[in-house]
Amino acid sequence: MSEKGILAVVSGFSGAGKGTLMKALLKRYEDRYALSISATTRQPREGEEHGREYFFQTEEAFKRMIEAGELIEHACYVGNYYGTPKQYVFDQMSAGKDVILEIEIQGALKVKERFPDTLLIFVTPPSAAELEARLRGRGTETEKVIQNRLRRAAEEAEYMDQYDYLLVNDDLDACVEEMHRLIQSQHQKTSENSGFIADMKNELKNYKN
Ligand code: ADP
Ligand code: 5GP
Repeated sequence: MSEKGILAVVSGFSGAGKGTLMKALLKRYEDRYALSISATTRQPREGEEHGREYFFQTEEAFKRMIEAGELIEHACYVGNYYGTPKQYVFDQMSAGKDVILEIEIQGALKVKERFPDTLLIFVTPPSAAELEARLRGRGTETEKVIQNRLRRAAEEAEYMDQYDYLLVNDDLDACVEEMHRLIQSQHQKTSENSGFIADMKNELKNYKN
């Protein structure tokens, strides 16, 4: 219905299942969505590729991107920088795709401030114990990093209520559908349909005395 794509931000504790959810959503509705690929200064995990999961950058290169105004937002998370390249997001939205940024809280709030129509979704596992189990089960981080991420989760929980919607990732399949429904419902917002509204008003003018 609406003319251009929706901008949706998905945040949640590390280990909540955001990456897993995004993968499943994009697989199921690949024509509908574009997932923004961030720049980061952290090291690639096993199996990650430059340009697929992230653009892996040195700190110097990352700082140059900030200075050149190439990032919509950037933030420091557990010792590394992360940021969203601007061009891709705007191009995809203009092409009518719904764009998803999978970013942490400081970045999410900055995006909302700059673009108030952004949909903010917070993904959480059903419990703290399940979060810890998923982080360990993933097997990609050292014990020290897991502890850091759990500590960070406790801080992040303070910001959950600044998000528009909460999604509990219990059954993965159900959560994918809920996320899809939530994002698609944004296309019905009046603010996303100013062209249609203007046309309708214009057509109805003919019926005025
Ligand atoms: P995030 O991207 O939020 O850090 P991941 O997508 O890497 O989290 O998921 C963390 C771990 O939890 C992974 O091992 C993943 O397979 C598992 N996981 C994700 N979603 C679910 C779910 N709904 N039920 C059980 N395990 C899940
Ligand atoms: P990870 O190292 O586990 O891939 O990501 C760590 C955190 O950084 C996650 O919460 C992830 O959502 C967030 N993140 C990824 N890309 C960006 C980004 O471009 N900007 C911000 N602000 N956070 C990001």
